[in-house]
Amino acid sequence: MNIPFSPPFIDQAVIDEVLDTLRANWITTGPKVKALESELLNLTGLKAAVCVNSWTSGAIMMLNWFGVGPGDEVIVPAYTYCATALCVLHCGATPVMVDILDDFTIDPEMVKRKISARTKAIIAVDIAGLPCHYEELKALVREPVVRTQFVPKTARQTSLGRILLISDAAHSIGAIYDGKPAAQQSDITIFSFHAVKNITTAEGGCICLNLPEPFDNQEEYTFLKLFSMNGQNRDAFAKSKGANWRYDILFKGFKMNMPDICAAIGLAQIKQYVNTLMPLRKIISLRYGDAFKAHDWFIEPVMQDEKREASYHLFPLRIKGITEAQRDQLIDELVIRGVNVNVHFIPMPMLTYFKSLGYAMANFPNSYKQFANEVSLPIYPQLSDAELHYITDAVIECVQLVKGTETLVKVLS
Ligand SMILES: *Cc1c(COP(=O)(O)O)cnc(C)c1O
Repeated sequence: MNIPFSPPFIDQAVIDEVLDTLRANWITTGPKVKALESELLNLTGLKAAVCVNSWTSGAIMMLNWFGVGPGDEVIVPAYTYCATALCVLHCGATPVMVDILDDFTIDPEMVKRKISARTKAIIAVDIAGLPCHYEELKALVREPVVRTQFVPKTARQTSLGRILLISDAAHSIGAIYDGKPAAQQSDITIFSFHAVKNITTAEGGCICLNLPEPFDNQEEYTFLKLFSMNGQNRDAFAKSKGANWRYDILFKGFKMNMPDICAAIGLAQIKQYVNTLMPLRKIISLRYGDAFKAHDWFIEPVMQDEKREASYHLFPLRIKGITEAQRDQLIDELVIRGVNVNVHFIPMPMLTYFKSLGYAMANFPNSYKQFANEVSLPIYPQLSDAELHYITDAVIECVQLVKGTETLVKVLS
């Protein structure tokens, strides 16, 4: 068997929706994007959702929107994909990294210690689709002492009057917090629709707005649509509808809009997501738990607790007591058997570029600990029963093999 790690979900409905777009002869931003945005409002229960061409674009756009720039700091977890910090660097600001908890989410206590007068935003990452501890994070940015410390530099920063809470929800579309969509927890939630995510548009993302008073989320939506299209006051679709050739450029916008040809894929998927695609992921996650729970090496990932339920984006298996080298060996053995796995994530301070900026892994001991024994297993709706059995058997066999080598080394030395 050869089992891919995370193939996109392409069924007849996806193909039909894409063909419909091709036949309509309108392939860039237009009705499909609008329809996807409206599905996203249904899913999140929010009032505004702006589709863009990636999570990264969305994050750069929103940090710019808030006026984050040189001299400012944004707190991010060390344990995430590089984009969470790169978006901050692209704005000329400094990512301040903090360690994570054992459930992979950002440690609110560590966030508190790193807040300074320069802090403008926190980006909390819902790793594997599990929402962060938003109640604690929300309380933190609203603490009177923290508010007093906040130094607004732009009109929007003055309006908010505190640190902006952004959710990196690249993994967590559909996740639940306190019985409601987790996207309602932060000021801004950004999804990714990259090819490996729960819902994909090949490349894409969406900014969901949940800004408090005095912000008008509808008004910000209108602004952000222009902001993502060069600040141009009449989009190409509207122009195509008549002899209305004249347009104006109102401000220095970005070019980050999502095309309809991409939106079509996500639109067909999102219609099946809550009732079919996400529950299928959950079933696989539960099956992994059942298969491994009898083994003392199994560290069960948190997918659900009293407050939270994940979107089952990843199954981040951790093996008790193995070293990073043994984990690497485990991956090699699984790949030999045709089980393609992954690691989420290599903490950013281990990557060359971040090292060159002075970030050091020694400052994030729990991130290293979680990384060293983590292996993400395949989890997606198309995974068959036979494949699932094959994976669980292979994992059990390979863990024993890797742990056996350890015993052998001990005996020989
Ligand atoms: C995939 C991912 C991103 C980046 O998403 P793009 O749409 O590729 O820009 C950001 N954060 C996390 C945690 C991710 O997994």
